[in-house]
Amino acid sequence: MVKVVKFGGSSCADATQFAKVKSIIQSDPARRVVVVSAPGKRFKDDHKITDLLYLCAAHIKYGVGCEDIFSIIRGRYNDIVRGCRLSIDLDSEFDALWEKMRSGISADELASRGEYFSAKLMANYLGFDFVDSALWVKFRFDGSVDQEASYEALRQAADGRGVVIPGFYGVMPDGHIKTFTRGGSDITGALAAAALDADVYENWTDVSGILMADPRIVKDPAPIRYVTYSELRELSYVGAQVLHEGAVYPVREKSIPLNIRNTNEPDHPGTMIMETVDDTQDNSDTFITGIAGKKGFSIITIARTSLSSEHGVLLQIMEVLEKHKVNVEFILSGIDTVSLMVSAAEVSNRLYEVLGELQKKLKPNSITVAENIAIVAAVGRKMANRLGTSGKLFATLGEHGVNVRMITQGPDELNIIVGVEEKDFEQAIRVLYDSFVKE
Ligand code: ASP
Repeated sequence: MVKVVKFGGSSCADATQFAKVKSIIQSDPARRVVVVSAPGKRFKDDHKITDLLYLCAAHIKYGVGCEDIFSIIRGRYNDIVRGCRLSIDLDSEFDALWEKMRSGISADELASRGEYFSAKLMANYLGFDFVDSALWVKFRFDGSVDQEASYEALRQAADGRGVVIPGFYGVMPDGHIKTFTRGGSDITGALAAAALDADVYENWTDVSGILMADPRIVKDPAPIRYVTYSELRELSYVGAQVLHEGAVYPVREKSIPLNIRNTNEPDHPGTMIMETVDDTQDNSDTFITGIAGKKGFSIITIARTSLSSEHGVLLQIMEVLEKHKVNVEFILSGIDTVSLMVSAAEVSNRLYEVLGELQKKLKPNSITVAENIAIVAAVGRKMANRLGTSGKLFATLGEHGVNVRMITQGPDELNIIVGVEEKDFEQAIRVLYDSFVKE
């Protein structure tokens, strides 16, 4: 059995956090492939090493000295060396980096050093081998990852040993270092898990899993215990801040479960994300997995007698929207109306052109635009074939004075999405959480 375990910035922030990581690794021999982020914040107003490295890159770009920032960065690593009593000395590597910063270094290469040094220290602390991601995460010139070549390279480098791998970066075909987008160590972890056909990809962070609702709206929402990859996609589509698609795709492709865990609460099971979840694993009777939503939509409604029954109407509408690069999130139609839900930001500076062209093409009796619309979705695999779910949902919203402007439910019954006015957004989420989760 092999588990690929990725630790985020807060788990690598200082010697105390390093010690927690060590005890998590030592408690399970299957945890032998470790991916680390750069040290993150130790307290609220602290700085992430990656931010400081980007700050150095900006100073270099504009020809401003950055010795002070560099010495803060160096100090953070030296504190870990001292605090963990490591036998490694990074001085010569830091001196060489400083020289390179003076003679010319790319922002990507400089930012990648956060993870590089973090992994060097962690490898020394755990007694594992350091495997540089520049040796195995292989980018193509178009910026995509060459999965086959990368997987093969890691299989050879990590072959049966305990290894620590820096997250966040890889190498271009010409040998230059390239980083992923911010938060990209999650992607490195997923790639490593897929390369090694891991039994599980554990992503250790500072929360005990994905929460059932946004904690800024719902007080102390419960963490999700089990969620399928499809549910997760639905939740992130409607606004939940979950993992980046790139951090999910490599493991999902190989049906590897992804477990979100909390380094500060290692006994908590966290959230398990799997292709399918069966009832023997998840015996809770809550049939909603999560509730999410987002603001910022407009509904354009085009009305003319029997509009919907004419051939080619939707095609004509879509041609106009396609021309203006406006994506339609939902289409709703009645006998005499077609309504399009679109992102307000996307349509804002083209609205009159879009409306003008729709008017010319379709010659409707009216076109109206409802602004400040939000969507709220209840997502849950257990809603399928469960009678009365949507009835209860609408009754609950109605009882609490939330006016529903739009409803959609996919035939797989994985979610129910309602459009509400933005002023009712938070209330709608709280009401749904209280009646479906807390009940
Ligand atoms: N250190 C990088 C960042 O702060 C990557 C990561 O932590 O995932 O974005």
